[in-house]
Amino acid sequence: MQNYNLNERIPAKGYAVAHKDDSFKPFSFTRHPVGENDILIEIAYAGICHSDIHSARSEWREGIYPMVPGHEIAGRVVAIGSKVSKFKVGDLAGVGCMVNSCGECEACKKSQEQFCQRGQTVFTYDCKDCFHGDEPTYGGYSNNIVVSEKFAIKVPDGAPLEKVAPLLCAGITTYSPLKFSKIKTGSKVGVAGFGGLGMMAVKYAIKMGAEVSVFARNENKKVDAKTMGVKNFYTTLNGVDECFDLIISTIPTPYDPMDYIQLLKYGGELAIVGLPPRDVSPDINITSLVFNAGKKVYGSLIGGIKETQEMLDFSLKHEIYPETEIIRADQINEAYDKLTSGRAKFRYVIDMNTL
Ligand code: NDP
Ligand code: ZN
Repeated sequence: MQNYNLNERIPAKGYAVAHKDDSFKPFSFTRHPVGENDILIEIAYAGICHSDIHSARSEWREGIYPMVPGHEIAGRVVAIGSKVSKFKVGDLAGVGCMVNSCGECEACKKSQEQFCQRGQTVFTYDCKDCFHGDEPTYGGYSNNIVVSEKFAIKVPDGAPLEKVAPLLCAGITTYSPLKFSKIKTGSKVGVAGFGGLGMMAVKYAIKMGAEVSVFARNENKKVDAKTMGVKNFYTTLNGVDECFDLIISTIPTPYDPMDYIQLLKYGGELAIVGLPPRDVSPDINITSLVFNAGKKVYGSLIGGIKETQEMLDFSLKHEIYPETEIIRADQINEAYDKLTSGRAKFRYVIDMNTL
């Protein structure tokens, strides 16, 4: 364990891109000092989410560069501020997509911090930190992170950190809509897009007692799906003759949501979590929607901190873990290529000891 002076800026190193067309290269930087309510975590593993790719490549909006992505973070607490009560040095901890918010508005009080009504949600990277002079945030493709204790998730001793990391985004983003749509034994759930998020949606839905079908682009992962307990695996929407209570779309590319709305039961719901690039973001045809009346479409954005802790506890209790492939830090570019060319399986997780 390194020695840190908590009152000074914390030296950090990681991997960054300098602009949207850049490849990842080693990058040294500093993080803000450890405030009285902050903890300092040495990162053991960080998952690669497709949002990292969208962000690094400025696919949603112009990113803030240099950019160190990563919001699926698991590691060990190595220092704590004077008023920290939730953690002690040596504890395991996780960090997801947010590192701070106002804590006082209605949304924050309901632990929906991702919707802070004062607009003060501080996302883990590619965001201006309004609590620290608007400095840019840097994510988990790095050796450490300083975070307000309220935004760190407690991880019990002995938990497999390389499996915990992806739960902090892929896990909560799929757990949350399944709970919101009250999925239970006998529900019929479809999962569109079978990557990092899709795999977690499948696992949670099956644990909640649902009958689950997957919509993918090819049969590459059909065997994996069947092993997880998936009933039907579709590579085309033609001839699908079942109807769903809920379809979760994790698709990160252009598609027509109407194709999935048509497959819902009366009263069924389409939860959209996948966020295709801005230029190719799908529209919903209003006429088709009206003639498919009685169905609901909603978006879902990660989940609040309270629900994230609930999701983690649920996952560990039932041993619901992501399928992961551990990579070295110098393999991030290769992983991005695989994730955008249909050659990836589920979740790449960077071993930070290889920095
Ligand atoms: P992955 O790349 O791991 O998985 C995406 C999967 O979708 C791949 O298996 C891919 O298949 C498949 N796919 C792509 N296009 C289609 C299509 N037209 N029809 C069916 N399947 C398709 O990405 P993630 O799971 O990490 O992320 C998915 C999306 O969710 C991203 O847009 C991400 O930004 C977003 N996201 C949203 C969050 C939220 O809070 N709402 C939080 C986290 C992520 P193939 O292997 O063939 O390419
Ligand atoms: Zn993510």
